[in-house]
Formats: sequence, structure tokens, C-alpha cells
Amino acid sequence: MSERIVVIGAGVIGLSIAHELAAERASGRIITVLTDADPIDTTSAVAGAVWFPYAAERSPAIDLQLQTTLRRFIDIAREHPDAGIDMRTGIIIERSPNPDRSWTDLVEASETDDVPEGATGMRTTVPLGTMSQYLPWLQAKCEELGVEFERRTVADPDALAGEFDTAVVAAGARSGALLGDDDTVVPVRGQVVRVENPGITEFRIDDESEGGLAYVLPRRDCVVLGGTHEPSNTNPEPDPEIEAGILARTAALVPALANARIVSRGVGFRPVRERVRIEEVSGRALRVVAAYGHGGSGMTLSWGTAERVAELVAVS
Ligand SMILES: Cc1cc2nc3c(=O)[nH]c(=O)nc-3n(C[C@H](O)[C@H](O)[C@H](O)COP(=O)(O)OP(=O)(O)OC[C@H]3O[C@@H](n4cnc5c(N)ncnc54)[C@H](O)[C@@H]3O)c2cc1C
Repeated sequence: MSERIVVIGAGVIGLSIAHELAAERASGRIITVLTDADPIDTTSAVAGAVWFPYAAERSPAIDLQLQTTLRRFIDIAREHPDAGIDMRTGIIIERSPNPDRSWTDLVEASETDDVPEGATGMRTTVPLGTMSQYLPWLQAKCEELGVEFERRTVADPDALAGEFDTAVVAAGARSGALLGDDDTVVPVRGQVVRVENPGITEFRIDDESEGGLAYVLPRRDCVVLGGTHEPSNTNPEPDPEIEAGILARTAALVPALANARIVSRGVGFRPVRERVRIEEVSGRALRVVAAYGHGGSGMTLSWGTAERVAELVAVS
């Protein structure tokens, strides 16, 4: 009989996993995604979304996932122009005397002096996603591979035993509560404002700017301006005062942004955890695999995570 696998969550992690599991055609698996929000209404849709490690575990295992994801996005950008993934050049601004440049082992980068006074910086070219395009594209690719999507809130994965053989929990910041065995996932609020592009082609990321995070990410439909990193703010609505700060910080970085027309706003909650959790969870009523805790790097780690989960599902 075909193995029935359910993926709980349709953010960038759940969709990538569903795609990876379904792409192994010879497996004869039946894949279903259960989600209580459309992909476009998830935290993943709020992401910038640039391939760059931020606010997530750093380890050899994660470096492998960074590398895998980078390779997959480079292929997608080349082979599927309709996916909304572009290779973009820009500058990572550094404020500390010993910046972490370990990421330059994975991608070419060169030092630049096109940075604010007192800072250093690296110019690089990395994948950047237009999530309003990429998430629907990925969902459509899943559907082409036979994945079924169902709108359902899951209260307890154990209740899915009988209906499915294996459940993959990719429920972002709510995964710990859903599994009931992990209270270490912190939902860290991030706010963005999206503006009409006044002609900007390069990104800027200033994670350590004095007033808070500052990034300018030109994507296909707008420029995403951010951001914030607020572990103790639970407000799901955009805050006008915070927005004013974002606009001021990003206009200081890229003066052409001053007075750019605002097109939309977003708030999301990063699933921050000391370590990304990708493992089989024992003692459940069906086989359960956890796949969450990607912090500020869900897009950046998505394909690496999907490949790792597919390996776990295949062996166990
Ligand atoms: C402002 C901001 C900017 C960011 N920028 C970047 C960036 O540039 N690059 C990057 O790599 N990352 C970025 N991130 C981080 C990235 O967005 C997250 O790491 C990523 O979205 C996590 O994806 P996920 O699929 O795990 O969770 P989510 O996108 O939150 O998806 C969770 C899914 O689970 C479903 N779900 C949850 N509970 C249940 C339940 N009980 N029953 C049914 N369904 C359920 C939800 O409906 C949803 O479909 C950013 C985040 C924010 C907030």
C-alpha cells in the first residue's frame, strides 16, 4: 500500500518538503498538505526574502543546508523565470570589528567601501525571492506532482493516525505548541513596509544598524523595507511608529527611497529556536517528523531542510 504522508504547514518549509517528497515519483507516496492559512498569508510571505543566514542556528549541518538551498535556488532562477527567484547583487553592511564572514565560504563576495561611515561591507550576489510569486508557484508545482492541499487546523498530530502513516510538522512558530513537547520556539516579530521601486536594483542589508535592523530588498513587485526583531512584541498589526523608524533608517541607507509610495505592509513571526529541529519524534500515535525553528532564515534553509526531511522519511 502507498505510504500516506501529511505535511502540516504551507509556508516555505512545508511547501518545499511536500515538493521534495512528491518529486521522488518512484516512491508511490500520497502527499497531503494540511494548513490553516494560504501560503500567501503565512510568515513566509512576509519574508524579504533574501538567501542569507540570519537569526538561526549556525553549525556544519546548517551550512550544508545553506549550500543545498543556494544551489537549488540558483537552478530555479535559471530554469524557471516564472518562479519569482532572481539572483541579485547588493551589499551586506558590517558594524562590528570582527564581522562573521563564514557565509563567504559558500558564495563569492568582495570587500566594498560603498558603505556608511565607520562600517565595512561585502558585495555579493545571492538569490532573492518575490514571495507573492514564489509561494504560489511552489504550491502549483506541488499540485502538478499530485500533492493535495486541504484547509484544516490540526489540534494534535496524534489524531491523524489512521488517516495518515507519517506526519511532518512544519507549522513554523506554532510547531512546538502543536507537538506539545517543545516550549523553546520563540515567535520573534518582524515588520516590513513595501514601497514602489524608484529604480533601485541593488539590495542593502544592515543587521547591526544603531536604530535597529535596516534592509532594502528590491524584488519584482516592490522594494521590501525592514525591519525589526522583536521577541516580546505580539502585535500582529503593523505599528505606524515602528514603520516611521524603518522608513527613516532605510532612506538613510538609500536616499532614493525618500518619499517612495507605500504599497503594502506586513508583520510576521519568525520561528526562532536555538537549533533548527529536524528529527523523528518518538512516542507518537503515528510516525512524526519535526521540521521547524528556522528563525530568520526559513527561505535560506528551505531546500536543504526539504532534502534532509526526505532522507529521514526514506530511512525510518
Ligand atoms: C519580517 C521578516 C523578514 C524575513 N526575511 C527573511 C529573509 O530575507 N530570508 C529568509 O530566509 N527568511 C526570512 N524570514 C524568516 C522566514 O520568514 C521564516 O523563517 C519562515 O517563514 C518560516 O517558514 P515556515 O514554513 O516554517 O513557517 P510559516 O511561514 O509560519 O508557515 C507555517 C504554516 O503552518 C500552518 N500552521 C501552523 N499551525 C497549524 C495548525 N495547528 N494546523 C494547521 N496548520 C498550521 C500555517 O497556516 C502555515 O501554513 C523573515 C521573517 C520575517 C518575519
